[in-house]
Amino acid sequence: MSNQILKYHRVLLKLSGEMLEDEQLNFSPHVAKVLANEVKQIYVMGAHIAIVVGGGNIFRGVSGSKQGLDPVTADYMGMHGTIINALGLMDIFEKSGMPTRVQSAFESDRVCEPVIRRRALRHLEKDRVVIYAAGTGNPGFTTDTAAALRAFEIGAEVLLKGTKVDGVYDCDPVHNPAAKRFESISCNEVIERKLQVMDSTAFTFCRDKKIPIIVFNLFTPGNLKAILEGKSVGTLVTVEP
Ligand code: UDP
Repeated sequence: MSNQILKYHRVLLKLSGEMLEDEQLNFSPHVAKVLANEVKQIYVMGAHIAIVVGGGNIFRGVSGSKQGLDPVTADYMGMHGTIINALGLMDIFEKSGMPTRVQSAFESDRVCEPVIRRRALRHLEKDRVVIYAAGTGNPGFTTDTAAALRAFEIGAEVLLKGTKVDGVYDCDPVHNPAAKRFESISCNEVIERKLQVMDSTAFTFCRDKKIPIIVFNLFTPGNLKAILEGKSVGTLVTVEP
């Protein structure tokens, strides 16, 4: 491992399920490989990397319940989707030269370890990537909230929300070409402007625990590495009062 000076030594990367899909597949090994190449660049710099993976590409509880499913059962279906993504990512990461362990918030002991904080910390210290599956393990939440909780639990210095867009905008950049991207914005301003950074439970938790969030485009080659080098990429959501 290199001893480069890093701005952040331990990071929690949130990957939504939709980041892992392509037109043909709801888990695309090809897309996962592209993302693994980005993560590998910070892995070789010696960063401690934990990932919370979503499951929206496979199943979302809200859509299931809108179609008549019991909402709690639908959420458990969604959480199982995150395990599918975590296993696929683990395989691709290991093939890319990054030893990786999956920890699940509920028992899935044929394929995952349980979430055990001290074991996760040990993995990070031994240069293993930790992928957290099954969200918080509780229906009614999202994997954004799991990302905030795990970031706190492992002492991550920043929560990196990898997306397909360049950051947080003042309005929807897809529908409004004049939309302006923030380089930096405070938590309070995000709330006042009702901007969507993460779901509100996750967001307020990060604010209260003083965990900054960077929203950035993970598909832009080199972005993740640049963040760890201290360059300004995407939008930094600051946590000062
Ligand atoms: N989910 C849940 N509890 C959690 C995390 C997730 O019940 O702690 C369920 C919920 O139904 C959600 C689905 O799992 O819709 C997939 O997670 P999420 O929507 O956060 O995935 P993403 O949008 O990040 O792909």
